[in-house]
Amino acid sequence: MRVLFVTPECYPLVKTGGLADVAGALPLALAAAGIDARVLLPAYPGLLSRITGPVVASTMPDLFGGKARLIAGRTVDGLQVGLLDAPHLYARDGGPYLGPDGLDWPDNDLRFAALSWVGAQVARGAITGWAPDLVHLHDWQSALTAAYLHIGSTPTSPSPPSLLTIHNLAFQGLFPVDRVAHLRLPPGLAPIGDLEYYGQISFLKAGVRYADHLSTVSPTYAREIVTPENGMGFDGLLRARAGQLTGIVNGIDDSVWDPATDPHVVAPYNARKLGVKAVDKAALQGELGLELRADAPLFCVVSRLTAQKGLDLLPTVLASMIARGAQLAVLGAGDAHLEAALLRAAAQHPGQVAVVVGYDEPLSHRFQAGADAIVVPSRFEPCGLTQLYGLRYGTVPIVARVGGLADTVIDANEAALRDGVATGFQFAPVDASALSVAIDRAIDLYADQRAWQRLQRRAMTRDVGWSTAAAKYVDLYERLVVTAPRS
Ligand code: ADP
Repeated sequence: MRVLFVTPECYPLVKTGGLADVAGALPLALAAAGIDARVLLPAYPGLLSRITGPVVASTMPDLFGGKARLIAGRTVDGLQVGLLDAPHLYARDGGPYLGPDGLDWPDNDLRFAALSWVGAQVARGAITGWAPDLVHLHDWQSALTAAYLHIGSTPTSPSPPSLLTIHNLAFQGLFPVDRVAHLRLPPGLAPIGDLEYYGQISFLKAGVRYADHLSTVSPTYAREIVTPENGMGFDGLLRARAGQLTGIVNGIDDSVWDPATDPHVVAPYNARKLGVKAVDKAALQGELGLELRADAPLFCVVSRLTAQKGLDLLPTVLASMIARGAQLAVLGAGDAHLEAALLRAAAQHPGQVAVVVGYDEPLSHRFQAGADAIVVPSRFEPCGLTQLYGLRYGTVPIVARVGGLADTVIDANEAALRDGVATGFQFAPVDASALSVAIDRAIDLYADQRAWQRLQRRAMTRDVGWSTAAAKYVDLYERLVVTAPRS
């Protein structure tokens, strides 16, 4: 089976969040399962020089206001990619979505309508020699593909089925209504009404309406987003499609995130050599200026610092953690108030609390290797990755019982501990007192090192790679290719 991914990001070429990891790793895992998966994304600056064997697969004299080419090649990982080279849309210094001023590019609607348009053309056979059986779309940036496929479909030339994965419902692709005139959507046709969203247009809405199937990145998040509390205004639309909404938990790249081979960690270890983790802990304490105490349970956080992540709860629970002899290390960047509050906490508790403001990939590996536990108190979390890294590194996750966090961590309640299935701690609701109780429970268990190590070993042997998720996507693809009514 041939599958076309249409995505705004793909690791290692371009990444701003978890979506890039999925778009980079899932096609490779699918290839191992016999699927010919290729990835279409914009040729942001510098990307063309990072693929091997480039060939021009298609030229377009006018793609939303300028010339464009589709360049096919491979990444260093062997992933087959098509880069949409449209200099008038993508050749500019800045991020994929934001300019150097930190504001959205003013033509983001055109930039991602163009990506979606080309996705639909490739899906409908524009490239000689390769056409997909199914199109896999990711977030609002590629969601319009589903509308273009619908418009282009005819009884004699049906469009292939499409699957839209929602990685985070908070991002909806909202633009002023009058922009619809520029999107190559025929006037008067249903998609225009179907894009309307509280006085604006939403690209995501077009995808939710027209994709043959919808998925999100965990079963619990799939259930949450059909409720008014968590549906972010989309719950009604999503409820209407609940029969075509599937949740599949993301995997992690377990060759990059492996404590036995990780080049960033001081002392490699595995579940059988757990004692070595103490060396990484001491190294991290030393690196961060924390007191070198082997017996202090060291909690860590690696996160964007935003309201979503619930880290504003941390300063409230800190005093009781410290009173019980625990330490806290935070690596994160984002909200200025939160950064300041955490830095204040570090200044108040020298030697017990360390805060590093910034984005530092190698340091995030040393955090996972050196800490005893990782705290993820998100208010909502479609899937979450850091708790999965924590499982792999025997760094016990303490998580809010929401979204993918609820699906990937088994709470260390009495029964789960007795049966040897526990992998971490969950708490609900997402407030400071429930978080504090969970941290207390972790500190209690940490005092019983044999029980703690059983928990760590169980966490480390849990399969968090991509193969399970890939098998589920293959199942879903096969069902869609056989049964989806053509758009
Ligand atoms: P989200 O995509 O909502 O930010 P995820 O948990 O799905 O949350 O993914 C976050 C990714 O970004 C993880 O790979 C995490 O290790 C990484 N990350 C977040 N903040 C930092 C940071 N300050 N330094 C290094 N890596 C970070």
